[in-house]
Amino acid sequence: MKQMRQARKLVADSARVVALTGAGISAESGVPTFRGHGGLWRNYRPEELATIDAFERDPETVWEWYAWRRSFLGTCVPNDGHRALARFFLRRGLAGLVTQNVDGLHTRAAREEAGDGSPDAALPVEIHGAIARDRCNHCGARAEAEPLGDSLPRCADCGGLRRPDVVLFGEMLDPDVLARAQSMAERADLCLVIGTSAVVYPAAAIPLATLRAGGRIIEVNTEETGLSGAASVVLRGKAGEVLPELLS
Ligand code: NAD
Ligand code: ZN
Repeated sequence: MKQMRQARKLVADSARVVALTGAGISAESGVPTFRGHGGLWRNYRPEELATIDAFERDPETVWEWYAWRRSFLGTCVPNDGHRALARFFLRRGLAGLVTQNVDGLHTRAAREEAGDGSPDAALPVEIHGAIARDRCNHCGARAEAEPLGDSLPRCADCGGLRRPDVVLFGEMLDPDVLARAQSMAERADLCLVIGTSAVVYPAAAIPLATLRAGGRIIEVNTEETGLSGAASVVLRGKAGEVLPELLS
């Protein structure tokens, strides 16, 4: 199809490529997007549980939900979309991958595709954190996650309550991590926006930074989004099918 030819040419002609991914890229791995039905747990919506207010009011329930998500994610594996991106960045190096996802599937794909080599070029900047890690809600110290026991996990340094190392609704993103993602986008001449509606700040700021610096956008999404109009090429389809063809 014509769009695919145009998109492949844009990729080939670009020196620095950045990719921004969202929940849509993991949909084919069986990870529910928040808007899909599979995201429900005990009739709570994620928007009710993944908030700093909910954590401070009722950490037990929020922790149980995250423990459920962790065990569920343990059964999910990277799909052809994660793998195509990992191979692409291992090969191309320049610029890199930014994700809103907390599921760790890009990291797994990078390690698997790198084999005995270094996965670094394909490791994502995770602007919303990583669900597989803990962080102290008081002092910020990071720790490896442990299975949830009878009492909630506490920080080894200060005794504060630990939490999953993700950005909850109602919280700011880590400014250093966001600045890193933004500077990658500014230096890129092409931004691939994959499986994300990317209309809400600060995720939206990433493709817009590439645009403002004179670069282009390619969108990969099953549906139209608020960003489609700003894209030079729109590839309508599943990330796991589109990306291997786009990036091979
Ligand atoms: P979102 O706004 O990122 O929307 C998902 C997008 O993916 C939609 O635009 C949809 O059209 C598209 N999509 C669905 N299936 C696709 C496919 N197979 N290929 C390409 N595109 C596809 O996400 P949301 O689900 O509303 O989540 C909001 C926030 O929560 C985001 O930060 C998101 O990353 C995070 N979240 C993360 C995970 C995860 O870590 N896997 C899961 C759920 C939500
Ligand atoms: Zn602490």
